[in-house]
Amino acid sequence: MNRFEQLAAPGVRKLQPYQPGKPIEELEREYGVSDVVKLASNENPLGPSPRALEALQARAADLARYPDGNGFELKQALSRHLDVEVEQITLGNGSNDVLELVARAFATPKDEVVFSEHAFAVYPIVTQAIGARPVAAKAKNWGHDLEAMAAAVTERTRLIFIANPNNPTGTWVDAEALERFIAALPEHVIVVVDEAYFEFAADPEAGVEGYPDTLQWLGRYPNLIVTRTFSKAYGLAGLRVGYAVSHPDVADLLNRVRQPFNANSAALAAATAALLDEEHLARGLRVNREEMVRLTDAFERIGLTWIPSVGNFVALDLARPAAEVYEGLLREGVIVRPVGAYGMPNHLRISVGLPEENERFLRALENVLG
Ligand SMILES: *Cc1c(COP(=O)(O)O)cnc(C)c1O
Repeated sequence: MNRFEQLAAPGVRKLQPYQPGKPIEELEREYGVSDVVKLASNENPLGPSPRALEALQARAADLARYPDGNGFELKQALSRHLDVEVEQITLGNGSNDVLELVARAFATPKDEVVFSEHAFAVYPIVTQAIGARPVAAKAKNWGHDLEAMAAAVTERTRLIFIANPNNPTGTWVDAEALERFIAALPEHVIVVVDEAYFEFAADPEAGVEGYPDTLQWLGRYPNLIVTRTFSKAYGLAGLRVGYAVSHPDVADLLNRVRQPFNANSAALAAATAALLDEEHLARGLRVNREEMVRLTDAFERIGLTWIPSVGNFVALDLARPAAEVYEGLLREGVIVRPVGAYGMPNHLRISVGLPEENERFLRALENVLG
């Protein structure tokens, strides 16, 4: 029992902290294994662009200085890259930071926040932390059921989170259905479309038909906020930088609650450089396409099913409690992600790695399954 619990804000009392993927060093410490493969946090297996690393190093000389609190250069680069106005962009210490800014700027303990079952764990956390009421709509085929979400909207709904593609399921909603959903929302509702895996789903080579170009909608729906990140396709998860694109008036409010230097100087410099290295991005997307096929072909051979994914990860159905398979994989030196906390006790989420990492995982999986 935590002796200070009664003093904590009511929302915080019931809060379960976010469970990240197990760090490699922790597995090495606890299990005495080495040469660990981690396919647990949807990181880019190629790492960041070499140009981002160069920019990072160049920045090191200036670490005594505070970062540019307005992130001028990165915003300029994003503005050009995305064809939006600088005033529409809000930078965050990862896009998780932005999700929290949205909750703090718009929701109060009187409000409801709607998201989907099996959706990203950060939505209920930021909702409960501010004391608002989380409302989880039922999913359909593991993905967002926009009709169920629309039905969950009440007069008290202030905020909706939609992950597209969703983590941990890899499912996605198409442009037509999503726009119909947004267009029908009452004016008092802010909708966040979380596009942490945008680059994978929008990759023309991936052939995802009808994946929405939500930035095009911002002019029509001023209550829409699109969030993206440098943590996944750009390989900068360790630096923490993400952003929102919205109506400038929404961005103005997000900036009021934002900490003045939430995006650090190393992150700003590296992200700006990463954005310009389209070749590196394309390499990562190609590895992801090819290796997703390697993984799912092997699942099929083994006789396992999975949820079709347009991200850089896949939820594998073990058709039995996955916790012991997860443990078995740890003993083999392979870290994947259990998703029991997402209401998916029979699944494991596997991030797509390099060819040799995926092979290691598949061998370990076959060993564990016997
Ligand atoms: C990984 C992820 C994020 C972002 O993470 P940051 O590192 O904070 O940018 C946001 N949403 C979803 C659905 C994710 O999976």
